[in-house]
Amino acid sequence: MTDLSYRMLFVDGVPAGLLGLDELFKILYESECAPQDADIGEKLIRGVRQHNFVPKPAIVAYQTVLEQEYQKYYQQRTGVGEVKAPNYGTWEGIPREQIPWFPTVSPELCDGCGKCIEVCPKDVFEMDEANKAVVIEPFLCIVGCCFCKSACAPQAILMPEKTMLDQFRHGQRHAT
Ligand code: SF4
Ligand code: SF4
Repeated sequence: MTDLSYRMLFVDGVPAGLLGLDELFKILYESECAPQDADIGEKLIRGVRQHNFVPKPAIVAYQTVLEQEYQKYYQQRTGVGEVKAPNYGTWEGIPREQIPWFPTVSPELCDGCGKCIEVCPKDVFEMDEANKAVVIEPFLCIVGCCFCKSACAPQAILMPEKTMLDQFRHGQRHAT
């Protein structure tokens, strides 16, 4: 069991659970690394790889997400810029970003009907230029909800198994 922080990020439409991100951001911030530094992406990837596996073909996608996350962290710490760091709240006492509960859309199956957007009580989806539903705010998704999946006739939406939530109940995250 590790004491490192654990956060879930959405990299290229795929959830990625990362260990030690908060610690890495803290170290970079305290070493006066700014989000606009030319080598910040490299430093982030190197740091993340100390505790996580990052597949080579996904490095650029990881780097983009990590830079955005570090930017948010940096702005929170410096208090500069009114960029709203989203507060997704908690579920069972655990930060929402750590719960991998959100829809995944298969673009091949999506017919662009827009039902998911109609039934979703949150702003989780958006239609893209190709008229396909895309998940833009996964952590706004209500944990345990499956409305969009039920409304999607071509079955383009996948939701996680509800039993997955057991490991997060009662404010505990059990090692997998
Ligand atoms: S309900 Fe299904 S098919 Fe319709 S837009 Fe949403 S994902 Fe696509
Ligand atoms: S599961 Fe519910 S809250 Fe989550 S995206 Fe679908 S309709 Fe929205």
